[in-house]
Amino acid sequence: MMNMIVIKTNNEQYKEFLEKYAPDIEYIMRGLARHYKFRPPKNIIFRPMRKIGSQHFIRCVWANAGWSHGAGYYISLDMESNMPLSRSRILDTIAHEAAHIAEVLTTNECTHGKRWQELYGTAKEILKAQ
Ligand SMILES: [Zn+2]
Repeated sequence: MMNMIVIKTNNEQYKEFLEKYAPDIEYIMRGLARHYKFRPPKNIIFRPMRKIGSQHFIRCVWANAGWSHGAGYYISLDMESNMPLSRSRILDTIAHEAAHIAEVLTTNECTHGKRWQELYGTAKEILKAQ
């Protein structure tokens, strides 16, 4: 099986960190796909969140996910705010973002609405069963 998660960074330290969580994203995505009967994406780009100068584009956001013309499906993490956090806190963020991708795949929307909340809940259960 090809790797679903494609890490995009030139920073070795970031790369090492993202590689630790790539199998968890894949595990959650495949679990969600099985549960909700959709085809998982071939690739998800996993990358540091882009910065504009020294400022984050949206400073209160620690991570985001979705689909873009340039990247396809992607999950971006703000490295400075995420790297010091515990594994369980980061896995929670990853479950949150994976639920956004599943929502895009199944409804073409990206919200924090009812459907997303259900997907996020299922993603957390999938992690617990790991
Ligand atoms: Zn969100």
